[in-house]
Amino acid sequence: MAKPLVAVLSGAGISTDSGIPDYRGPQGLWRRDPEAEKLVTYDYYMRDPEIRRRSWQMRRRNRTLQAEPNAAHRAIVDLERSGVPVRVITQNVDGLHQMAGLPARKVLELHGTARQFICTKCHTRGPMEDALARLDAGEDDPPCQECGAVLKSATVMFGQRLDPVVLGEALAITKACTVFIAVGTSLKVQPAAGLAGVAADHDARLIIVNAEPTPYDERADEVIREPIGTALPRLLRRLSPNGD
Ligand code: ZN
Repeated sequence: MAKPLVAVLSGAGISTDSGIPDYRGPQGLWRRDPEAEKLVTYDYYMRDPEIRRRSWQMRRRNRTLQAEPNAAHRAIVDLERSGVPVRVITQNVDGLHQMAGLPARKVLELHGTARQFICTKCHTRGPMEDALARLDAGEDDPPCQECGAVLKSATVMFGQRLDPVVLGEALAITKACTVFIAVGTSLKVQPAAGLAGVAADHDARLIIVNAEPTPYDERADEVIREPIGTALPRLLRRLSPNGD
């Protein structure tokens, strides 16, 4: 018998225990502050050097790079190491699933990663630390060292399309999985919301772990409202072959 494939769709709620607030969700910090939202909106960023300078200062202050994985991230790694095929589709840009020990090839980052910079022209990438070191050395809007064009964080800004390859893989996993767990996501933003629907349409067992109600609760086989840090490890132990 084929092993069940577990797909985990993770949103901001899985990283709040790691001290990372919800920046981009419907109720997120950026959406509630139009000035802050400009700093992460592609058109403003590309045409206004002052927006870029403020955006770089924000990245410098951002706590995302200092954050550590928490019990929920580690529980997914434990499940994967128990032999259950696991794939993570994440709305988060914090890289904490990989830091917890999940192989990078098993993580699809729908919104990119804050741990790297990317050139907006030649697409050269590098560690965000390297770009931030240039700020420490006195640059306020460091250009690409290969081609001189504008650099940005390797995240998907507002006004940018999601990577169609990543999106296609996310859809394929969602259709193929036997269990689909949406954790810490409001399921109000596309494409995450759509994926939960696709999973249900393809007869996956849909499990939602989220503090607040979501539009998909009625379609879910199971809805868990307890804190993610305890609820997810308990749920995943149940799915593990040596679990309870
Ligand atoms: Zn470049």
